[in-house]
Amino acid sequence: MGSASVDIYEELKAQLKDSKTEVLLPGDGQPYEESIKRWSEHCEKRAACVVKPTSPDAITTTLHFVRKHKISFVVRGGGHSTSGSNSILDSLVIDLSLMRGVTVDADTQTIRVEGGALWVDVDEEAAKYGLAIVGGTVNHTGVGGLTLGGGYGYLTGRYGLAIDNLLKVEIVLASGEQVVASETEYADLFWAMRGAGQNFGVVTAFTFRAWPQENPVFAGPLIFLPEKLVKVVEFMNAFHEKTDGDQVMILAIACPPPARAPVALTMLFHNGTLEEGQAFFKDLIDVGPVANMTGMMPYSALNAAMNQGQDHGGRRMFGGGAYKLPLEPSSVQKLFDEFIGFSTQERKNMQDSLLIFETIPYKKVIEVPNEKMAFANRGEYYNLATMIKWYEPEDDDTVREFSRGLLKKASQAAGVVADEKVRAAEGVGVYGNYVNPDVPASEVYGSNAKKLTELKHKYDPDNLFDGDTRLVPRPIVVVN
Ligand SMILES: Cc1cc2nc3c(=O)[nH]c(=O)nc-3n(C[C@H](O)[C@H](O)[C@H](O)COP(=O)(O)OP(=O)(O)OC[C@H]3O[C@@H](n4cnc5c(N)ncnc54)[C@H](O)[C@@H]3O)c2cc1C
Repeated sequence: MGSASVDIYEELKAQLKDSKTEVLLPGDGQPYEESIKRWSEHCEKRAACVVKPTSPDAITTTLHFVRKHKISFVVRGGGHSTSGSNSILDSLVIDLSLMRGVTVDADTQTIRVEGGALWVDVDEEAAKYGLAIVGGTVNHTGVGGLTLGGGYGYLTGRYGLAIDNLLKVEIVLASGEQVVASETEYADLFWAMRGAGQNFGVVTAFTFRAWPQENPVFAGPLIFLPEKLVKVVEFMNAFHEKTDGDQVMILAIACPPPARAPVALTMLFHNGTLEEGQAFFKDLIDVGPVANMTGMMPYSALNAAMNQGQDHGGRRMFGGGAYKLPLEPSSVQKLFDEFIGFSTQERKNMQDSLLIFETIPYKKVIEVPNEKMAFANRGEYYNLATMIKWYEPEDDDTVREFSRGLLKKASQAAGVVADEKVRAAEGVGVYGNYVNPDVPASEVYGSNAKKLTELKHKYDPDNLFDGDTRLVPRPIVVVN
């Protein structure tokens, strides 16, 4: 697979001219320039052609076209992945941003979401019916990538992952065939879709189980000066024992504006009343934050609460690790110092970076065994993430190395072992949506990697969906 001359895309335009699908080429000015924008600038690449389909049939046509002309392509959902799998230089992008429809069935409490929707589309439509689904904590992220890789959110402690609430997917396979996969139809494909779905086709719609969420929730940030870090970690350790699944406590090490001074920033959530929320987090509030912005809000607004700090622009990289609680406050202090030291070096201007301890209760998540779906990150630990923002391309390697080193150290210090056998039994200790495709399959999918490779050969034998080279390594064999 490779790139092709620009003229060839006129053929695709002609094939799609009767649909509302847009086909954008580099000469098309602003619409094209907008279409190659991504959450992270370091994932912006000048594609030879961006197809914005409005139907599964247009995707089938496009897949037949790329196969015929041996053109490489990628799929773009919400455009937030930092792994590089949503953009491509000189080749073709299938951009799902015109497929954002959300349909709520209040009787069955299910929600059908088109493959290019963002979480804001879902949260707002579901709220009209007093419903919610497990979705991302920042509402401009895409439903597509977040769900196919697993999907953690504020409701995970109560209802599990996004994939645990996924009932079926409508998908266009590499062959161009349109199928529906669920527990009863294409069950093996459905197994693969839940954790490794980006490798098997273009999902045109997801159907999720929804849950009643009429009440507003207690949520918001509490910000602490560094000298309070030990007390904050002590509370997080107590949180681990105390939560019944209806709370979340995210701890981020950051230098937020306007002061740009290092702080321990917490984001709290309790699915209940103000009194209950304040009572649950009383010991943390009593530690004495410099700012307390907690309060009551509708669930649909909660997922917008962290949008501002996570807006588009700059070069970004996510990295993933894991930690177990209780944590030794002194080991968190060491990570704090190392992270702040790195992200505040003036030349690098990385003050918008975060080191995040995502204390989202896992009891519900580990009720499902790791073999039940491709997703293999179920264990008695929490996700640790680096989210680094920088501006200069020459810092790319430095950022990657720093992030990897820190996460490895942190995961080891936090008792999450690197031994393969233990990981297979306990969960891999790394969330696939936070890592790059160069991390080996065994690290992301554990003992599920073998079955995934077999299914990849069954459903995408020519490795058309090669954004993730973990499952079928290059070179790619193309069969006409
Ligand atoms: C600000 C921010 C906040 C985040 N918060 C959370 C969180 O709360 N919980 C969580 O679990 N994760 C979170 N993440 C991580 C998130 O899950 C990943 O970044 C995810 O890849 C985003 O999906 P996307 O559709 O926006 O990205 P994209 O980059 O568009 O897609 C990611 C991958 O999925 C593929 N893909 C997307 N849609 C489809 C589709 N319909 N069919 C086939 N393939 C598709 C793409 O080809 C690509 O390989 C967050 C990320 C960011 C940047």
